[in-house]
Amino acid sequence: MGDFMLILNRGKVKTVLEYTKDQVFIRFEDDVTAFEGAKKESMKDKGSINCKISTIIFKRLGESGIKNHWIDTNGLATMRCHKLDIVPLEVVVRNKAAGSICRQTTIKKGTEFNEPLVEFHLKDDSKGDPLLTPDRMKLMGYDPYTFISITNKVNIELIRLFNLINLDLVDFKIEFGYDKNGELVLADEISPDSMRLWKAGTQESFDKDIFREDKGDLLAAYRTILKDLERLDYLPYLDSEKNKKE
Ligand code: 5GP
Repeated sequence: MGDFMLILNRGKVKTVLEYTKDQVFIRFEDDVTAFEGAKKESMKDKGSINCKISTIIFKRLGESGIKNHWIDTNGLATMRCHKLDIVPLEVVVRNKAAGSICRQTTIKKGTEFNEPLVEFHLKDDSKGDPLLTPDRMKLMGYDPYTFISITNKVNIELIRLFNLINLDLVDFKIEFGYDKNGELVLADEISPDSMRLWKAGTQESFDKDIFREDKGDLLAAYRTILKDLERLDYLPYLDSEKNKKE
C-alpha cells in the first residue's frame, strides 16, 4: 500500500491513511520511540508484529462485546478500521504501580492496587500529556464515567487474556473516538508498546520498558507474546471471510 492515499495522521510509530469516507488504514511502522520521541530506533518487523498483536486483542475485545474500530487485517502491518472522531485523551489503567506513578508519588514499584486506577491524560506531547481531574474532563466536555465503564471491561478482558499466556498486566493506555452514530468506541492500537506486561509473579518486562531502560531484546519479547497469543487457537488474528465482505 503506497502513500497515494491521503495521510490523515502521521504519528511516531503509526500512519493513518484515508481509505473511504468511513474507513481508514492504520499502518504500523518499524519504529520504536520513547520519552516523547527523544529516543528512537528502527526495528525490522516490529510494525507487523505489533499490528498482529493489536489485531488479536481488538478481535478478542470485539468478541467480548467491547466496540472497537478494527475491521480486518489483510496487509502484514496494516489494519482496516472504522474512521472515528478521535478524543484527544489517553486513558491509563494501572493494576500495579510502575512508571510515572512511581516517579510522581511515593508509591513503590510493584504495589498491587485493590481496585484498578483509571487515569485521564490530555494527549499532547508538547504539554507532557498532563494528568486531568474528572472536573477538568467535564469542563472539556467529556463524561469520565462513560470512559471508565468501557475501560474497566477492557481491563478485565486483557487481564484474562494475558494470564492465559503467563503474563501479568501491570498497566496500559487506550484511546477512544466517536463513531458516526456518536457512540464512544475504542481506537488506536493495543500492543506491548502501550502496556506493561511482567512475566507472571515477577517484574520481568515483556514490553517497551525493555527499550526505555535498555534491558534486552525488545523484538524477541514481542515475538514471544505474538507466538503465545497465536497459540490460543480460538484467536486467529486474520479476519473471517464474512467481515472482509462487509
Ligand atoms: P506511564 O504513565 O507510567 O508513563 O504509562 C502508563 C502506561 O501507559 C504504560 O504501559 C505506557 O506504555 C502507556 N502509555 C502512557 N503514555 C503513552 C503514550 O503516549 N504512548 C503509548 N504507546 N503508551 C503510553
